[in-house]
Amino acid sequence: MTSERNAALLSWYQLNLRDLPWRGSTDPYLVLVSEVMLQQTQVSRVISKYEHFTQTWPTVGELAGAPTDDLLRAWSGLGYNSRALRLQQAAAIVAADGWPNSISGLQELPGVGPYTAAAVGSIALGLDAPAVDTNLRRVLSRWAGEPLAGRALTEYALDVLGHPAGDWNQALMDLGSSVCKTTDPACSECPVSEWCLDPAVYEAPPRQASFNGSNRQLRGALVRAHLAGDNLKDVGESLDRSEQETRSAIETLRAERLIS
Ligand code: SF4
Repeated sequence: MTSERNAALLSWYQLNLRDLPWRGSTDPYLVLVSEVMLQQTQVSRVISKYEHFTQTWPTVGELAGAPTDDLLRAWSGLGYNSRALRLQQAAAIVAADGWPNSISGLQELPGVGPYTAAAVGSIALGLDAPAVDTNLRRVLSRWAGEPLAGRALTEYALDVLGHPAGDWNQALMDLGSSVCKTTDPACSECPVSEWCLDPAVYEAPPRQASFNGSNRQLRGALVRAHLAGDNLKDVGESLDRSEQETRSAIETLRAERLIS
């Protein structure tokens, strides 16, 4: 069953793969940039940023030497600016030591967790690993007929992993985002419906914290003001934040070297 299902999935992927600028690349740097950008940002917002970023810094060596302010300007609009700094730190390590040749080695790079390591490792380095994110978790839970999480999810994913693992991961990412959606999965269009135990296994999306009034909103506004040369203290006032809250956010951003 597993091999037939994977064959159907991979054939569907070859015909339906989304046209994204990082698709088809097996350059680990390009895959890493795309995956880090996609960690907390929608695909539609990532595309133009990715193209500009990788044209400006096409290699790990060039990114490693980029001035912080230029880096943050290029990242502007993606949010979670500390991702950009961690990506640059990872690039500096790889520029000096080369790419790790294992998933655990990739996970030692700054900003690279289990999902990103598995995505980069499988897509660009030919390593066998399932890249388990919320899309994969939902689809695999439906295949298994029960909600999977933690160790059970990892074991199931390893059990059903297809080859090449990079294509299999990307096929499931695409299936999860375009067909096997959280609500109303389009099972009649699904290439693997024959082998799916329970389409009704539903995974409620996590509640999004409100952006307005959040620390994230204040941090993002402070970084933008810094890059524009504006007075940082005015930012807190414009967002109706206390002096202490603004001061504390500025100190944290300075400690993280996001502003000077
Ligand atoms: S049959 Fe439906 S629920 Fe199962 S994997 Fe396909 S789209 Fe998802």
